[in-house]
Amino acid sequence: MAFTLFPRRISLPCDACGVLLDKGSDHVYTCLSSNYIAHRKCISSLPCVIKITRHIHRLQHTPSLFSPNADTSGFACGVCHKPVDVNYGQYSCIKGCHYAVHSKCATRKDVWDGKELKGVREEQEKDGVVELFQRIDDETILHCNHEHHLKYSGENNDVCDGNKYCQACLLLIVDSDSLYSCMKCNFILHEACALLPRKIAHPLHKHPLTLLPFPTNLYLIQFKVFVEGMFKCSGCHQRGCGFMYRCTEKGCRFQLDVRCASLEESFIHGSHGHPLFLSLNKGKCMRCDTNQCSPFYLECVECTWFLGLKCAMLPNIAYYKFDRHPLTLCYGEKGTRSGQYWCELCETTLHSSEWFYTCNICGVTLHVTCLLGKEVYMKPNHTIYINDEKVDIVRNNGNPRPFCDKCYDRCVDTLVLFKEDSRKYCCTLQCMQKLLDREKQEKEHEGDE
Ligand SMILES: [Zn+2]
Ligand SMILES: [Zn+2]
Ligand SMILES: [Zn+2]
Ligand SMILES: [Zn+2]
Ligand SMILES: [Zn+2]
Ligand SMILES: [Zn+2]
Ligand SMILES: [Zn+2]
Ligand SMILES: [Zn+2]
Repeated sequence: MAFTLFPRRISLPCDACGVLLDKGSDHVYTCLSSNYIAHRKCISSLPCVIKITRHIHRLQHTPSLFSPNADTSGFACGVCHKPVDVNYGQYSCIKGCHYAVHSKCATRKDVWDGKELKGVREEQEKDGVVELFQRIDDETILHCNHEHHLKYSGENNDVCDGNKYCQACLLLIVDSDSLYSCMKCNFILHEACALLPRKIAHPLHKHPLTLLPFPTNLYLIQFKVFVEGMFKCSGCHQRGCGFMYRCTEKGCRFQLDVRCASLEESFIHGSHGHPLFLSLNKGKCMRCDTNQCSPFYLECVECTWFLGLKCAMLPNIAYYKFDRHPLTLCYGEKGTRSGQYWCELCETTLHSSEWFYTCNICGVTLHVTCLLGKEVYMKPNHTIYINDEKVDIVRNNGNPRPFCDKCYDRCVDTLVLFKEDSRKYCCTLQCMQKLLDREKQEKEHEGDE
């Protein structure tokens, strides 16, 4: 095609990307002989063949998906989930899947890795990937994170007592979970967590991610304060001590906990009637009512409704030590008469429109934070190092429960931080870090005298 500058701004869609030509400041070029008009950028810089992590096959730029014979209706963009107008340029699956992405969405900086793949041979990705587990027989595996064999047990396992949790995702084990568990000790993994693939492509990140059985790098919690043995998920911003998926691209620090990594691109969440998808937009979280819920959100296109990943990942089932039954997460009740419940733990009002945990048999109701604590995914009996000082995460089941040696409040979370050498307890990482500061200053002071 021979392009010439089109001298006027007109309100027609760009043939390459479908966005109106009078939007933005770019020049408009046209090829009159082929009746084609487009933004300058779209002609010169749109790649032909790309790969994005939201689809398994490569995508190619096509001027128009319209074809009189094929079914070209009902394309929703694979990134923003809004309709794709098949009459204009977009990216579609090279292998012929019913899949299309707006040109603008496919080439976003956070979606496309910037590589033009035209003429580049497809590598057999699977080759040379070493999984973290080794299969011994049909029911037994050896996991690189544990010395003993793990045996498969189907649903209705009998290990569930409200205290056992999966070492990978740190969620409590419930009756219906399929597990791989150790015959000699307490080590348990969900079946899905035990067999997690070593390498994945995840919709939230443009590079492939690699599974690691423990946090590998130092986690900076504050200026000059590094924690070892813990990490913060780039999806939900929750701290955790379980397995992680990490980007191995140089200079890229993206990492996901196993819970966020297991999210499908689009799925039904218990809190909403329509499917939600992993969005790159942000909005006000439906549960916590802020824009700061987490770095990423689920979105409903129909309702322009957002749910932050931190809230979305709250476990459906939880245990309360004074109730024999598992509690379920209730996503708020609309239009109930009284509108109020009572939280058994903090003994204050619980509004029925907020999310809460309840036992359907005993009728107990509890605030989410009262039951789960602030740090939901910490690992009991796990050691972390805060600037090389050894600190243990232990269960808060002493009677009476300890007071925090920094803020002097009683520790109420299910887990507490414990510094063995000085026998000090702290309720949070922040308190522990301040306590360590204080201890250090005291030591320096002693040295002065
Ligand atoms: Zn789109
Ligand atoms: Zn798990
Ligand atoms: Zn074991
Ligand atoms: Zn996460
Ligand atoms: Zn990356
Ligand atoms: Zn939220
Ligand atoms: Zn909706
Ligand atoms: Zn409460």
